[in-house]
Amino acid sequence: MYGTSDPQLSPPPGTTLVEAFRHWAATRGDEPACTFVDYGTTREGVRHTLTYRELDTRAAAAAAALSRCAAPGDRVALLLPQGLDYIAAFLGCLYTGVIGIPLYAPDLRRSDTRLVSVYADCKPVGSITTTASLPALERLSEQVDTGRVITTSDLAPAPFDPVQQDQDEPSYLQYTSGSTRNPAGIEVTAANLWTSCAQINTFLSLKPGENIVSWLPFFHDMGLVLTVATPLAYGAHAVYFDPYSFVHRPVRWLKLVSEYRSTVTASPNFGLDFAVGRVPEEQRAGLDLSSLRALVNGAEPIREASLRRFSEVYSRYGFNPRAHLPGYGLAEATLPVTMQRVGKGADSRYFDRDALNTGRAVPVSKEEGQGQNAASLVGCGAPIFQEVRIVDPEQWTALPDGHVGEVWVHGPNVCRGYYGRAGETQETFEAELRDDPVKDRHWLRTGDLGFVHEGQLYITSRLKDLLIIHGTNHYPVDIENTVEQALPPVRVGHVAAFAVTPGEEERLVVVAELRADRIAGTDLPAAVAEVARSIRRTHEIDVYDVVLTRPGKIPKTTSGKLQRGACRDRYLAGEFTKALARLRNP
Ligand code: ATP
Ligand code: MG
Repeated sequence: MYGTSDPQLSPPPGTTLVEAFRHWAATRGDEPACTFVDYGTTREGVRHTLTYRELDTRAAAAAAALSRCAAPGDRVALLLPQGLDYIAAFLGCLYTGVIGIPLYAPDLRRSDTRLVSVYADCKPVGSITTTASLPALERLSEQVDTGRVITTSDLAPAPFDPVQQDQDEPSYLQYTSGSTRNPAGIEVTAANLWTSCAQINTFLSLKPGENIVSWLPFFHDMGLVLTVATPLAYGAHAVYFDPYSFVHRPVRWLKLVSEYRSTVTASPNFGLDFAVGRVPEEQRAGLDLSSLRALVNGAEPIREASLRRFSEVYSRYGFNPRAHLPGYGLAEATLPVTMQRVGKGADSRYFDRDALNTGRAVPVSKEEGQGQNAASLVGCGAPIFQEVRIVDPEQWTALPDGHVGEVWVHGPNVCRGYYGRAGETQETFEAELRDDPVKDRHWLRTGDLGFVHEGQLYITSRLKDLLIIHGTNHYPVDIENTVEQALPPVRVGHVAAFAVTPGEEERLVVVAELRADRIAGTDLPAAVAEVARSIRRTHEIDVYDVVLTRPGKIPKTTSGKLQRGACRDRYLAGEFTKALARLRNP
């Protein structure tokens, strides 16, 4: 039986994030709660800090304003830029019982389908934003009803006693990333949020006074739960900046970790690649990453090569490779499902590719693995006070260790459903295992495929993205890895493998972006041929079409996740006909 239900490991009962945070505001009020480094005005960044008491005061001011225009249970959209007001507004919603929807500041320069679809989906009664965003909000309100508007400049100090909220009622709506569909709103209860903080901190052991650094967007589940809620629940100090400033100059992340002697930080896999590929040697001078005990990596497939390269480069700057801490989670489970233990480091293994493609995980040695026929996967650790099963997605029966199946989850962090989508809620959140020894227990179907090996969860693919070619399963990430290794000018993490059905059978298409600085020097016809050859050699598939494009052509979510389905739609709509190079193999 995989997972754990040991009562000793249950989260502390009867507490909420608000109670925990107010405890720190009362007992450690003068200590810093959060710092935002604003790189918008100067290159070095301007620092703004709030102590626990000051943040409580700001949250109360937001709560007082919110309670004048919304009732408990109403929804209000947070259209704020990354910053301290965002956190105060989020807490303010929790204080009043108004259901906040963590989003981001609208941008006048583009129409925003994500925001439009969220407003249409859950019809908030109001929006909280900044004066700078008002023109963009105005534009948005031509498409959807944005309700009453509160601006952060209107907030005035006012006492506010947090309402006693039912722990099992929704306390905020977390929209999914939208990697495979229009984002769905998940109802997260106070109990879900508190449980998740406790689960995460069982792995991370954050303590009062410790510093964490993060650039993850607050509207994304990992940014909100791991880097906002958890440090506030445990009295730590979080230093934030915004994702754009990270992408623009990734060294900022490492410099802040050094400067604040940060013990914990987090990033999806691509952030590690940025830290290696986009931080020139001269910018690294003086970095000291020796304080880090956990560099949490999740939200996207984790690549062994990315961890290895990061360790190679940054162990020279004090980084301990054992600080790599892979994790797996999803918004439907508030966030965490499995995590690696602190100090263990990442467990990268090779598995026989043919066996894996038929649903069996057969480990092979490193020497064998570096040959052609093995796939490298990184273990995502084990669950804590929740249960995980690997399930045959057709039979709904649990599979033993070493078998690939759908990951199902049961635990107090699993949310109760999607807002306003009864059918999808039932399908996703209320699955029942045919052979469950516990009667009437509901399981969350994650839609992810994986297996358990030596007590760790390995994720192979999303069920929706699985490729079935000539009757054999193939995992897109495995093929994308092959392409990245075969062709160095390819942008790491910017390759999409998907299937189309031009005739009777499914055929493989690969779209890969080339690095802007490598396009001119690349022999494009030779490059497409090499991609096709490497796929044939490694996966025994005759690829139907290889497309090499300029950067930015493969669709990604607002949090930077690959959208294979949307890429396929673009492909079928003929959007890649003007690509840099193609190799059609009908
Ligand atoms: P949507 O559900 O709207 O299509 P999404 O699934 O990307 O978007 P999130 O809930 O933010 O939205 O992301 C969770 C998903 O991210 C997981 O279901 C899984 O597919 C992927 N993921 C998370 N962690 C890992 C990991 N360690 N390895 C591989 N995939 C991961
Ligand atoms: Mg999902």
